[in-house]
Formats: sequence, C-alpha cells, structure tokens
Amino acid sequence: MREHLSALARAGAEAVGVRTVAELESVDALVLPGGESTTMCRLLRVYALEQPLRERLAAGMPTLSTCAGLIVLSREVVDGRPDQLALGALDVVTRRNAFGRQVDSFEADLHIEPLGVAPFRGVFIRAPQIETTGDEARVIATLNGAAVAVEQGPHIGLCFHPEMTDDLRVHQHFLRVVDEATERSVA
Ligand code: GLN
Repeated sequence: MREHLSALARAGAEAVGVRTVAELESVDALVLPGGESTTMCRLLRVYALEQPLRERLAAGMPTLSTCAGLIVLSREVVDGRPDQLALGALDVVTRRNAFGRQVDSFEADLHIEPLGVAPFRGVFIRAPQIETTGDEARVIATLNGAAVAVEQGPHIGLCFHPEMTDDLRVHQHFLRVVDEATERSVA
C-alpha cells in the first residue's frame, strides 16, 4: 500500500489509504494492492467494506489491482480458500501461487501494450497466473505466452508489482484511465 501511495503521489495524484467506508466513498478510483488475498477478503468483511466496494465497482469506479488485488477482483479463483471473494470486476480466472515454490519470486522484462515499446520490469512475488481471459478482458501483457496483465473498461489487473520499481508508467497510465472515466461520467 505504501509503495502505491508513493508511486501515485509521484505520478501527480492525491492518494490516500482506504480502510473505512467513508474513505472508500471519498475516492474517485481505487488501487487494490498485493499482499495476501485471503487476508484482504477477511479485512474487507471485518471493516464492512465488501458491499460498499461491490457497489462502487458496479457504478464503474476505476481500479488498478496488483497480484492479491487482481485475485480479489477476478471472476473466479482457482486454489483459493472457501471464503475467498471473487468480485468479478475482471472477466478472468486466476490461480493463486501458480508459479510454485522454486520460482516464488522473480523478475522479467515485459512488453505492456499501452505503455509503448520500452520494456517494463515485472516484479513477481508469489504471483497468481491468469488462466482464462473472458471476452470482456483485453490482455495487455504476456510472459511465456501466458497473460500477466489485463485491461477491462476502467480496470487494470496485473500479476506483478509495478509499485516495486521506480518506473511510474503503469501508475501514469492508470491516472489517464481514471481521467477518461471521470470525464465520461461528468459528460
Ligand atoms: N499469493 C498471494 C495471494 O494469494 C498474492 C501474492 C502477492 O500479492 N504478491 O493472495
């Protein structure tokens, strides 16, 4: 969360941590960070954020989700816990911890379509894999033929951690998506 707040601030956004319903209501867009998706699901329930979050998603609030955040926003989760949420903002099926123990964490240069030709350093930490991508989601980066980033309307979902690099292009791209979505809703 801290690294995302810092990246968003450096990219020119006013960024605040969201832990309460009032904070969720105060923001134009939301980053769902990495961490542990099962814990995030538990905290969403403990802080009574699940339903308000579902409502904001249904109303078109833009999101950037990374790793555990991507899992939470998936349509379906493989190898999840029984109480795991799949909020369905992204039309993807993700598999938790799909890269296995040997390659728990690794980095790889990625070509992320909306960011242009310069490679983006993907930091993968106990990362999920995107197993299936439905019609609604557009794959914007792959690694060894597998989707590792998708975009769907105002939502960007990534298997890796852009906030762990100094490269701000993903956060800048997200802020453009947020601007477009905000302009559209005002219009
Ligand atoms: N393996 C974690 C999960 O299932 C995700 C790891 C991460 O966010 N870096 O939630």
